[in-house]
Amino acid sequence: MTGMTDMMKKAVIVYGAGISGRGAAAVLAQLGRQVFLFNDNPCTIDDELLAALQAAGGALVIGEEAFTEALAQAELVVLSPGVPCDNKNVLQAEAASGVEVISEVELAYRLYGGHMAAITGTNGKTTTTTIVGEMFKRLPVPSAVGGNIGLALSKEVQSLPKEAWLAAELSSFQLEKVVSFCPDIAVVLNLTPDHLERHHTMEAYGDAKKNIFRKQGAEQVTVLNYDDPEVRSWAKDSKAQICFFSRKTVLPQGIFMQNGNFVIKWNNTTKVVCNIDELKLFGGHNEENVLAAIAAGFFAGVAVEDMADVLRNFRSIEHRLEYVRTVKGVPYYNDSKATNTDSAIKALEAFTKGHIILVAGGHDKLTELEPMMALVKEKCDALILLGEAKERFQAAAQAAGVENIVLAADYDEAVAKAYAMAQPPQVVLLSPACSSYDMFKNYPERGRYFKKLVNALPL
Ligand code: ADP
Repeated sequence: MTGMTDMMKKAVIVYGAGISGRGAAAVLAQLGRQVFLFNDNPCTIDDELLAALQAAGGALVIGEEAFTEALAQAELVVLSPGVPCDNKNVLQAEAASGVEVISEVELAYRLYGGHMAAITGTNGKTTTTTIVGEMFKRLPVPSAVGGNIGLALSKEVQSLPKEAWLAAELSSFQLEKVVSFCPDIAVVLNLTPDHLERHHTMEAYGDAKKNIFRKQGAEQVTVLNYDDPEVRSWAKDSKAQICFFSRKTVLPQGIFMQNGNFVIKWNNTTKVVCNIDELKLFGGHNEENVLAAIAAGFFAGVAVEDMADVLRNFRSIEHRLEYVRTVKGVPYYNDSKATNTDSAIKALEAFTKGHIILVAGGHDKLTELEPMMALVKEKCDALILLGEAKERFQAAAQAAGVENIVLAADYDEAVAKAYAMAQPPQVVLLSPACSSYDMFKNYPERGRYFKKLVNALPL
């Protein structure tokens, strides 16, 4: 009896109506599948998508009870990255007979027959994926970028032929519930404690990330950061060819830095891609991203000279150590993406000559401040604080011996104060070490507002 009912189950539930979910639902509907696009909370989707769903017998479905009803008709549940695997409905779907639960990334993989470099890590994913995407554009075949970067992977792969190369940015969330996913090149940048509220333990977080190479074999390549002890140790867990990259060690084989050169050494052949002085991108963390990108480009067959050309012309991406403008000999940088102290530390370290006027603060994440403030003391000529976090940051800065601390009521005042005091060789850096929710919708809005103020400063 169960078997008979199962045979009639043909629908797909796409769980979550965000970017990935809407993308997956659109693709599946276009393929003629009956799709229930499900969201826990009320939401709207555009008319075109709704019409496409309805044309194939599907619908937008909201609320818990409606899920159970839709599940009775479904053979497949596709999870958006924002949906935790221990969510009640997901558990219900897993317990149901004749239903497979997969992530949107797995769906994309099943729909795609082309080549892929998949990139994961706690930090640097977007930067690395963007560079790899630029390198892939130099190949004589179509290419695309997708995933966590804000483009639904399943939608991006739709129009790509078999010979195409896709650069996919994948978060650990997207790597849960993959089944057959097997990219040609899997890159793991680093692993630091993050997202523990969802994965609960570092082990579970690492396990999700390892899914990036779990199905790989000798035909594929796993690219691992040699300088990150945890990531380095994963070599034993992959059956693919291992390519390490390192900023600190000249490797017998792999991608590494030597005398400021980015070097590829593979199968006894050594090639220099370019020198660090030729890049516009800066900061030690970006050197790691560049090494990882070179590995992906190399195994995808991008010519060394093309990679060098991409790297020489690549400026940072928006809100990540982004150069804004030089006013009265003082350059201004927008690093609004630095929503935690680790990122702010990377930014401070990137300015090797110091003399930073740092603008920081925002919604306080209540993490420890000592390491960051020790660096502020070493590198900064002044610290301008604003937002909810300003008092706690001020106390921590004072405890670390930072002398020149200025408080500002808002961004207008912070930029005005920076402008009033800044002189060459100083630089003004917005690297808030806080999220933006106390004053802005999100970090891009914060970064854009900062840039607007900087662009309005008189010369
Ligand atoms: P993600 O997409 O993983 O969030 P991004 O490329 O957007 O990463 O960079 C976000 C921030 O993370 C940067 O502003 C920088 O502070 C930090 N970061 C970037 N690359 C690295 C890296 N390789 N190692 C450590 N931190 C990094």
